[in-house]
Amino acid sequence: MKLFSTNDKTNIVDLRTAVLKSLPADKGLYMPLHIPELDKRFIENIDSYSFVEIAFIVSSTLLGEYIPPSDLYSIVSKAINFPAPVKSITTNISTLELFHGPSLAFKDFGARYMAELMSYFTKKGESKITILVATSGDTGGAVAAGFYDTPGIDVLILYPSGRVSALQEKQLTTLGKNISACEVNGSFDDCQALVKEAFLDHELNKKYNLSSANSINIARLIPQSFYYFEAFKQLKNKSNVVFCVPSGNFGNLTAGLFSKKMGLPVQRFIAATNKNDVVPRYLETGTYSPLESVSTISNAMDVGAPSNFSRILELYKSDWASIKKDIVGFSFTDEETKRAMQHVYKNHNYICDPHGAVGFLAAEEFLKSNNGKQVVFLETAHPSKFLDVVEPCLETKVEVPARLASLANKTKKAEVLSPAFDDFKSYLLNR
Ligand SMILES: *Cc1c(COP(=O)(O)O)cnc(C)c1O
Repeated sequence: MKLFSTNDKTNIVDLRTAVLKSLPADKGLYMPLHIPELDKRFIENIDSYSFVEIAFIVSSTLLGEYIPPSDLYSIVSKAINFPAPVKSITTNISTLELFHGPSLAFKDFGARYMAELMSYFTKKGESKITILVATSGDTGGAVAAGFYDTPGIDVLILYPSGRVSALQEKQLTTLGKNISACEVNGSFDDCQALVKEAFLDHELNKKYNLSSANSINIARLIPQSFYYFEAFKQLKNKSNVVFCVPSGNFGNLTAGLFSKKMGLPVQRFIAATNKNDVVPRYLETGTYSPLESVSTISNAMDVGAPSNFSRILELYKSDWASIKKDIVGFSFTDEETKRAMQHVYKNHNYICDPHGAVGFLAAEEFLKSNNGKQVVFLETAHPSKFLDVVEPCLETKVEVPARLASLANKTKKAEVLSPAFDDFKSYLLNR
């Protein structure tokens, strides 16, 4: 598999470089040079494949001969070891539950696959890697769980102070071993800026072999295309399928576009956002204007400058009209989100987390003018990750899965930092 930088098409690297470096020096993003189509018979017979088999076939089609099939099969089966069930909510709306992994969020797919790939590549003599990751909540938890105790890899997580839920913070700050956390007095965008600047800093790169685990790493994106196929497999009626993706950095949606490009018969994608609505506004006006992020109850989507947007532009050669053909966007307020959580609970006896609720709202909105489609919205996190929002809103207790509940008694360990790069840099140099 060969990849190029979105800022310079002549900057071509192999998969190993893209995975270990994460970000090209020209500040672009790595994109596959070619996204191959899957064998049509695979799609026709998709019902007969297990999730791991689907993940293996999609992986090997994308990656080509780059990793020997038996090694790739082992990577895939270690990474994709939990299910992604589709549950029906209304006649036309169902949900794809992506929260059955170790950190209870869809990011477990990307984090686990990337940890396996990186560990595979570093086994071949690479020196120790330090992964820097900025998180608005769920990325950090998934990366921490995915990389915990992985030999040869240290992880440093940056999160915005006071803007992640209590249990999310525990997921970031209590594991220990090769996982450390920095609590930044700023926003998620500040955290992301610190990470980006660190990658470009000469001194830091001399001391550390830096890599990233954000959705900018192509190894995060690839496995996120698997579950679109897995969801499609589970649908009894396979026509008029539309996926609705609660979005922040747009990695999840971009992976969906990859799956369509590989031949999955999806009619459209819905970009569902909270008030951080730069992409829905781009879809409406043709003008892309990134903004400061604003805080919402669906905080994993509080992103004002989505990092994968340039990949979407690249996929469509920046052609607004063809982007609009494939993606439609809607954004919602926190009030609307809470009402949707109540509505889905009361009328359909299903508990959505705030991110999934934004997806449900967008699905309903889309169906108003698109009769006869079936919309699958992605439920990106388990509702128990957002107890402080969900329980008062629904006036009910939400069951916390044991693997999350056990964190409540663990002690938080984090380095408190200002959003100034110099502080972060001296912390890293003196560690
Ligand atoms: C990360 C995250 C999102 C946004 O996903 P992107 O790929 O960044 O668009 C949505 N919901 C939850 C729960 C998340 O953790």
